[in-house]
Order: sequence, then C-alpha cells, then structure tokens
Amino acid sequence: MKTKIIKINSNNPQQSTIAKCTTVLKNGGIVAFPTETVYGLGADGLNPKAIKKIFKVKNRPSDNPLIFHIANKQDIEILAKHIPEITQKLIKKFWPGPLTLILKKSKTIPQIATGKQDTVALRMPSNKIALSLIKSLGHPIVAPSANLFGKPSPTMAKHVFDDLNGKIDIIIDGGQTRIGIESTVLDLTSKIPTILRPGGISLSELKKILKNVEYHPILLGKKSRIAPKSPGMKYKHYSPNAKVILVKGSTKNSQQKIESLIQKLLLENKSIRLINYKSIQKNPLIISKFIGYEKDLIAKNIYKIFREFDKENADIIIVREINNSNLGFAIMNRLQKAASEII
Ligand code: AMP
Ligand code: MG
Repeated sequence: MKTKIIKINSNNPQQSTIAKCTTVLKNGGIVAFPTETVYGLGADGLNPKAIKKIFKVKNRPSDNPLIFHIANKQDIEILAKHIPEITQKLIKKFWPGPLTLILKKSKTIPQIATGKQDTVALRMPSNKIALSLIKSLGHPIVAPSANLFGKPSPTMAKHVFDDLNGKIDIIIDGGQTRIGIESTVLDLTSKIPTILRPGGISLSELKKILKNVEYHPILLGKKSRIAPKSPGMKYKHYSPNAKVILVKGSTKNSQQKIESLIQKLLLENKSIRLINYKSIQKNPLIISKFIGYEKDLIAKNIYKIFREFDKENADIIIVREINNSNLGFAIMNRLQKAASEII
C-alpha cells in the first residue's frame, strides 16, 4: 500500500480533501489526522473490521481500548449509558478539548474497540480538521495515537509517516499539534471521578468543576490493590529507540549527577544527547537541544525532540525532572514511562 500525505489548511480545511478521506474511512480504510493533542490513527468507529486493522497496524495489544472521537456533544447519549449528572458540566467547560471521559458503554459500541471493558472512552477534539472529518463521516472515529505501539506519539505528519509508511492509506498533514501530549483520561464510572491518564487538562482545572476528583494511585507511584482500570497504564510507552535517563533532584544536585553520568558514558563511547530547559545548561562535550522553559513548550516539543535524537542515532537521551504541578504532572508521567533509568 502506498501511503499518501495530503497537506490541508488547518484553519479552514478544504472540503474536497475531507471528502476524499471520508471515502477511505467509509470503505474501511485508515486515515491519520491531527488533533490538538497528537496525531490520531482513525477508523470508522462503528465498523469492527476497520477497527481491527488499527490494532494490527500499530501492533497494539487487543486489550488496550480505543478512544471514540465525536463532533457533537449530544452523541454521548447514543454511545454511553448511565451518564452521571456531572458529565454535562464537564462537557460544557472542557469540550471540545483534551479531556477524555470514561462512561458505561451502550450497545452501539463494537466490542473490539473496548476490549473486555464495559466502558467507553469519549472525547470531542477541538482541532478543525478532526471535527470536520468526524462530521463528514457521520459516525464517531476511533483513534489511538498514530505511532507504533510503545513509541512516542506523533506530533507532526512526518512522524506518522516514519512509523506507518506503507501500512495506512492517508496521512492528513495539518502541521505540528498544538498541545503535543495526549488527552487527560477521566473515569466517571468510579465513586470518585478518577484521573487514569494525566494530560492536556490538569487536576486543578478539573477541581474547579468537580468537588471530588483524584489521581489513580498508580499515577502517584503507589502500589495499588485496585487493578489498573485503564489498560494503557500497564504498558511501556512513549519511548524513543535511544535509552532515556531521567535525572531527579534540585538544579545543583541534578547538574552534578549529569556531569558524572556524561563522564561515564563518554568513556563507553556513547552518543549522548541532553534536553535543556534553559539555554545556559550547556556542556561542550555533548549535543544538547533547548526545548524551552515553559511547560506548554516542553509538552509541545518533547516527543518531537525524542524523534529527532533517534534520527541522529543517539544512544542516550538525558532529561531532567520538572516541577510536578499542572501540565508538569502529565509531562513527568510521560518522562517516567519513557525512561529506562531514573537516577
Ligand atoms: P491512545 O489511544 O494511545 O491515546 O490511548 C488511549 C488511552 O485511553 C489508553 O491508555 C487506554 O487504555 C485508555 N482507554 C481507552 N478506553 C478506555 C476505557 N474504556 N476504560 C479505561 N481506559 C480506556
Ligand atoms: Mg498512544
């Protein structure tokens, strides 16, 4: 199969392009498209055969369910049941946007999309290309991140191409995604609404709407007797080919750790890369990339930099921990999962 990359205007998506992609989806094909979080690998959410292809193309374990992307808030009534009252308030405030809600699923949802769960993950993205594709198809689109299983999520069309060339029909190129890390997954089927995956919407933003909301204990590094409700929690994720080493501690302390780590790795002839939050953290012996100081920029560019370092055949990527508040919690979650070693 030849994979086509089609450029599109992200502010005003050309309807002729959307129509072409819709035809592919209607015929059970797969289309990668941008959302505001990361690129998604889309299939018709009501076509089990097409959904099956998604798992195959990505090498995704079949027990890791997919998010249903919708373009009309009212569609949750069709796709979910026993919807708690608070849902409306959350939707009003955060949709369209990077918040995925877990609800009890209705009969409409194909079994293959949700594994053994009796729940469904729903999100209304804000990206205009995504919305227009969903509207044009007239069905929800199931879309996991458009990377090979375990790799960093794609934030640019070329990242999707690098992972999936020859395996999918079309990649819609709408430029770099705005947020850069995945949506927040919030479980509304538990007694207390529980964050299963931190993401684009922070705990403190959710607290403005929800009296009670908490992180799943696994996200806090606690051993939990509660089984991971989100199957995605148990898998290794977001990892480049290079080995990621996450360095913890105060600025001074982590700086010392990094210096001695670099000395050791240079003796082993490793090709080392460092991610800098401040341009002044420079070491002349290794290649470093400045990612930015603000969390928005770190989130937007972290996967891109991982992939750039892989293209340069790096052996090791060194990255410092960042402050855990708000979006920082989601970024640290990704760094911890990507890391082979935390020092
Ligand atoms: P991705 O598609 O790569 O963005 O990952 C989607 C995430 O949502 C994974 O961590 C899934 O395990 C999680 N997810 C999807 N559906 C459900 C569900 N019904 N219950 C719990 N977690 C879900
Ligand atoms: Mg993913």
